[in-house]
Amino acid sequence: MKVNFQESILNLLHTFTISRSSKDVEPCVIVELEHDGIIGYGEAAPSERYGETAETVMNFLRNINLQQFDEPFQLDAILTYVNNLAPGNTSAKAAIDISLHDWIGKKLNIPLWKLWGLNKEKTPLTSFTIGIDSLDVIEKKVREAEPYPILKIKVGVANDEEIIKTIRKVTNKVIRVDANEGWKIKELARDKILWLEEQGVEFIEQPMPASHLDDTAWLRGQVHIPIIADESVVSLHDIPKLYGAFDGINIKLMKCTGLREAMRMIHTAKAANMKVMLGCMIESSVAISAAVQLSPMVDYADLDGNILISNDPFSGVKVVNGKLVLNDLPGLGVLNKMKQ
Ligand SMILES: [Mg+2]
Repeated sequence: MKVNFQESILNLLHTFTISRSSKDVEPCVIVELEHDGIIGYGEAAPSERYGETAETVMNFLRNINLQQFDEPFQLDAILTYVNNLAPGNTSAKAAIDISLHDWIGKKLNIPLWKLWGLNKEKTPLTSFTIGIDSLDVIEKKVREAEPYPILKIKVGVANDEEIIKTIRKVTNKVIRVDANEGWKIKELARDKILWLEEQGVEFIEQPMPASHLDDTAWLRGQVHIPIIADESVVSLHDIPKLYGAFDGINIKLMKCTGLREAMRMIHTAKAANMKVMLGCMIESSVAISAAVQLSPMVDYADLDGNILISNDPFSGVKVVNGKLVLNDLPGLGVLNKMKQ
């Protein structure tokens, strides 16, 4: 088993701003896992919020030696070895996990959704994300997002109310709101959410910093719409402590180390009657297509990372009128545009 990898710079169609950062390009690292004449693709989309950069991903991947394993079907042993190499490095680990799953699907000539017994018609709608911007640009972006029935709006700044009013002037669509830990005082978060409820907001994602769990539990008793954890939930072991503070979790392959862990998280959250959302970073069609394979199992999807970029090196799952559309290709269902 050979692991090759390469950094790829994803160009954003628009500058993307959230409550803590702003960017025009986003690096990812594409992994090719080769064995028995088959290439499985994987991707790491590192986030500085979780201590990763393209450099840390490549350093981690350089230290992986899969020669000791006979074949990718030893997924559990391989991923246990990879997980134990170093703490953190979750997107680098996800890249290996995704490439192994792609390889296995290709070897068996079966799409992952079919391997898992899922119904590909049951994929959810994905929201389309509107980042923080000037009110003029936000209005323009909302008009451009016409094909998407659900919008996810980034807030957590001083003029949140203006942003929402601007959007409501243009559309009555379902909106979901993500504060990205932007509200630091619980009474402020409460007032913001009670106001958002009047604007027809479906749920609020990560209103307060991940470290403010008690404040979020207090907030849970003060507001009515679901509160979804994102920065507060990295992997499986974070789920039990969220109970009573959050109504659901946003699973991202790049936070949780990949498809194997994401599957465990989905089952664990459901056992606790929590809603499940699948989210993403800015990613190419490799990592997005991987997440979409799991999407028939979840309540909400925010898998638009590949739609926000202009130079996707791969093609894979599609979005048609907001609905995620899986194909019948094996593994992740992705094609490398450079090898067509
Ligand atoms: Mg979020």
